[in-house]
Amino acid sequence: MIQLGDFKLHLINDARAMHDAGGPFGLVPRALWRDVFMPPTDENLLPMTHHNLLVQANGKNIIIDVGYGNKLTDKQIAYLRLERPQGGLVAGLERVGLTPVDIDLVIDTHLHNDHCGGNTAQAEDGSIIPVFPNAEYVVQRREYEDASRPNERTRATYLAANFRSLIESGQMRLLDGDTELVSGIRGVVTPGHTPGHMTVTLESGGQHAAFVCDMASYAVHFERLGWMTAYDVEPLITLETKRQWQAWALEHNALLIFPHDPLRPMGRLSEDANGKRTVVKVDEPYV
Ligand SMILES: [Zn+2]
Repeated sequence: MIQLGDFKLHLINDARAMHDAGGPFGLVPRALWRDVFMPPTDENLLPMTHHNLLVQANGKNIIIDVGYGNKLTDKQIAYLRLERPQGGLVAGLERVGLTPVDIDLVIDTHLHNDHCGGNTAQAEDGSIIPVFPNAEYVVQRREYEDASRPNERTRATYLAANFRSLIESGQMRLLDGDTELVSGIRGVVTPGHTPGHMTVTLESGGQHAAFVCDMASYAVHFERLGWMTAYDVEPLITLETKRQWQAWALEHNALLIFPHDPLRPMGRLSEDANGKRTVVKVDEPYV
């Protein structure tokens, strides 16, 4: 657990999956990233973790992103080599003494399947039900609109089963731009990965943190403005978004959370005398 002012932050490792390196590094040549990040496997795969953040603030239990969930087919699990060594999100909540009924707010940074699949589950009768029955869910309206009209590039990851029933039942609220969700917790639009992608900032007792999410999937993407993933639909906008947020991170000495990074899931940006910017890892006791 990390204490941020009055807030309690618990990083929960929902899963780890293996992805073709062309995903996380996109247009960046392998010769450039392999020594800086890590060499890929013989099959050119790299690990991505899928972390969620439980925030206990103002008497509320808030989850930022919910991972793949349990609707994946055996074929998808095998393709992704998906592993849940710690049992996944719900098991992580149990280690903090919580169950899904205790969650008050679910913040979906965006609606890609690896971030919001855990919003819902399939009941035995085949119906789609919310995993967090008492929670309000929030997502940006722009993200919802894009997810509702996927194109050839996005339809494998924008799956209506993850969000449509929540909208129809009124359990999911659509946000129009930057929004304070709870005192000290803001959803801020950080376009690039998707136009409606959201970073969540936390501020308590003068301390700042950000669930960066896919603005920079790995910490190394945050350090190097020109490096971005193949999953970004607007890569040059990602670059400019990161430029702004590097300045923010330095100004606030913010704790940065990179939910896909197996090496540096948490860190702080520092700048040396030559202007070189590096994410310095913060060790995080997982729950
Ligand atoms: Zn992602």
